Amino acid sequence: MKSPCYHRLMAQLRVRGVRVLVISVLLVGLGAVLLVACVRVPAIAPGALVRLTPETVAASEATVFIAPTLAPSTENPATSIAVTSTPDVITLADRLPTPTPTPVATATPAPTPPPMVEPTPDGIERTARIPILMYHYLSTPPADADVYRTDLSVPPELFAAHLDRLRAEGYTTISLYDLLLYLTRGAPLPDKSVVITFDDGYRDNYTNAFPLLQERGMRATFFVVTDFVDEERPDYLSWDMARAMLAAGMSIESHSRNHASLKGQDDDYLVWQALGSLETLQHELGVRPRFISYPAGDYDQRTIDIVASAHYWGGVTTEQGTEQSAGAPFELERVRVRNTTTPDDLIRYIEADW
Ligand SMILES: [Zn+2]
Repeated sequence: MKSPCYHRLMAQLRVRGVRVLVISVLLVGLGAVLLVACVRVPAIAPGALVRLTPETVAASEATVFIAPTLAPSTENPATSIAVTSTPDVITLADRLPTPTPTPVATATPAPTPPPMVEPTPDGIERTARIPILMYHYLSTPPADADVYRTDLSVPPELFAAHLDRLRAEGYTTISLYDLLLYLTRGAPLPDKSVVITFDDGYRDNYTNAFPLLQERGMRATFFVVTDFVDEERPDYLSWDMARAMLAAGMSIESHSRNHASLKGQDDDYLVWQALGSLETLQHELGVRPRFISYPAGDYDQRTIDIVASAHYWGGVTTEQGTEQSAGAPFELERVRVRNTTTPDDLIRYIEADW
């Protein structure tokens, strides 16, 4: 028979055994948790060479290096702090050493020309009898040319005779900008002014017309079809040619993107033609065009509305005449010059009461 002391001792040992068991289980569990945590953390020593693939960079930027930004609330900056909804993602570039900036030689900045501001009409309904001549090809038509090509072609010698006759009659070549500033603001013009324009942007405008104008200190406006220049069509101006002409004081303006009709079209199509050609010209030449020549003379009120909304200042038509009006800057009249137009004809046309 066992003594009461024995029973008491055994009871105490059982209690201690349970405690030891519980503590052991807890320690083993904690160890397991720590072990799992260690295995899941990437074991990359600082400075270790890590091959970065787009996936690892994206993963690290997206998950590992996200630090929420704490920003004080504007409502009560003293007491509350709000967590912004956008996490501050630290990108790979942020973790790379900042490159030392290369010293840049300081140079006196070139004076920038004042931006050309759209002239605000002063409200006076001015009209002016200013002829705008319309040329196309500036070359002798090829032997197999059809009647249309021949009609549109003015040989260089005839063009030179036109220019000399204009000068002899006291005419000064002005730009469409000069004309518009007169119509809208009353800016003074020479007594006898004439605008010379070329449609389509043929290459012979550069090889033949451009030197003849330059020799005489005269200027002209060239309406180019921007897709044709982009496509480097051999019969049309190149962008280098257009830049050289612009630098010499000529104007390069829009004749649409692809010479399709701008009449009866919807807004999207007209925006594509008007704004598309404008942006190409601005990109290639660094100057924003302000005038458009409607291909084949086709336009309607919707055309005018879209062109005006694209911040063009005016448009030239194929309507025969010399009467220009401040109230209709998008319907400027022109005088067609043909293969058969003699210098006498030219003066007669531009001084006629159309
Ligand atoms: Zn044309």
